[in-house]
Amino acid sequence: MFEFHNISTKSNEYIDTKEKYKQELEKFKDYAQYLTDKAGKANKSSQKASSYMRSLVRLIIGYEVKFKDSISTLNNFDTYKKLMKITEIEGFKEFNGNTNHFYSATLGCLLSYITYLNSENEEKVDIELNSQNQYSGKSKLISFEDTDLKNVKRKEKRSIQNTYFYPRNYHESVKAKKKSGWVCEFDNSHKTFINESDKMPHVEAHHLIPMAAQGLYENSIDFSGNIISLCPTCHRRIHHSIDEDKKQMLKYFYEKRRNIYKSMDIDISLKELYKMYGILK
Ligand SMILES: [Zn+2]
Ligand SMILES: [Zn+2]
Repeated sequence: MFEFHNISTKSNEYIDTKEKYKQELEKFKDYAQYLTDKAGKANKSSQKASSYMRSLVRLIIGYEVKFKDSISTLNNFDTYKKLMKITEIEGFKEFNGNTNHFYSATLGCLLSYITYLNSENEEKVDIELNSQNQYSGKSKLISFEDTDLKNVKRKEKRSIQNTYFYPRNYHESVKAKKKSGWVCEFDNSHKTFINESDKMPHVEAHHLIPMAAQGLYENSIDFSGNIISLCPTCHRRIHHSIDEDKKQMLKYFYEKRRNIYKSMDIDISLKELYKMYGILK
């Protein structure tokens, strides 16, 4: 069932597959290198990034053979979901354990990578959402409707100058801030300031499951339960701090929100959340 593990890097199918996704695999490897470097043990990381790449090639071959389907690009969540089907095959857990958990680690790295690819654009919309005021021009990317219902399908991406973004619902971010009592949810003693646009304490809306990962879900993740209110420092911290700090924040918020995700039919584990923030371990 897991014969792909034994495919030689000198075999034709390996060489052909590697050639087909050459540029995408190189970028994946560079990103894996960056993640493993920042996770520490730098001396071992370069070999590790190459191993992730080889495992990914084998997973692609394994998927295409087993499911008689083909993969067109590595760069989207549909591909990730396809490859994840391998983890549902009976016996995968044991096989993965016998191979040092390298295949699950490779898939985790792919989840980090695809989220990262989407984050550059999606974080621009997040900034736009947080700087809305009554004089902001009508943005194509900010909508004003009520969606905090179960099973709301994700919105289509909207294009601006040939770049595609998921829209945000302004009301959901305000709802989240109201629920937080307009204080930093990580530590309510954090000092902020009065915002000129609404005369309320300035807190920033942050999607705990990042909108960059919206493509992984059929349902919308742009609802108030997925939005946390943070003071500006904590907001930068959850985006830019070292892995250890980020993990502390993510674990704290995941525990607070996991039941909401359950009730909204959003399937997410803490491990997956870490991956979305570029944390491998
Ligand atoms: Zn944010
Ligand atoms: Zn704070």
